[in-house]
Amino acid sequence: MKATREVQEKLLALQQLDSDLIQIKHKMSTLPIARQFDEVSKELAAKQDLLVAAQTERDDIKHELSRAEVDVEQVVSRIERDEKRLSSGQGSPKELEQLQHEMGSLGKRRAELEEVELEIMVRIEGVDSRIKELDEECKNLEAQVSDLKAKKEDELSSLESSVKSTTEARAELAPKIDSELLALYEKVRASGDGIGAAKLVGNQCMGCHLTMNAAELTRVKALADDEVVRCEECRRILIRLD
Ligand SMILES: [Zn+2]
Repeated sequence: MKATREVQEKLLALQQLDSDLIQIKHKMSTLPIARQFDEVSKELAAKQDLLVAAQTERDDIKHELSRAEVDVEQVVSRIERDEKRLSSGQGSPKELEQLQHEMGSLGKRRAELEEVELEIMVRIEGVDSRIKELDEECKNLEAQVSDLKAKKEDELSSLESSVKSTTEARAELAPKIDSELLALYEKVRASGDGIGAAKLVGNQCMGCHLTMNAAELTRVKALADDEVVRCEECRRILIRLD
């Protein structure tokens, strides 16, 4: 295959654009800011789960408190009823004595129930402060997530515009290369880690980095400038620049 030196140089420039595209796309898929965004998003989701769990726990304890309040109210109303009966002075001395005894027990029961109520209230306070803490942590993480999201989108859009301009440059350059050579380049590139054409520097192919022996180098150097040379080792198109 033949191609002028000028066209071979264009092929090398095309290779550079293709390598740039691979690099930019790799960068886009491995952005540190994107990883950071994912990590903080996960942290936020975990905190939000904890917050929901704490809020559910608070609702449950609130129900417990309502039940405890009802228990206290019931005892209080029995005490009030007994007090009324006692102050009315009606009933036999034995009945009045029983009433006083019952009031004593009810008083103890009331104190116990109020103790329970207080414990529940202390638990609510504990959950409340946990909710407040989690809520603040969530808000803080939400701010971080939205900041990271904006930065990530900025970086991505700048890389996207690099992809766009490189793709445009490629579209402009590719038609200037003979279609047969271009087809060979694409074929080799597809099977050669994205590299279809490489420089020959000294006796080394910059595609596979292997060196050719003296006899091979002499043969290659003796070939006409417009002869398309392939690396014997990696089959890539070798561009001789000197
Ligand atoms: Zn090679």
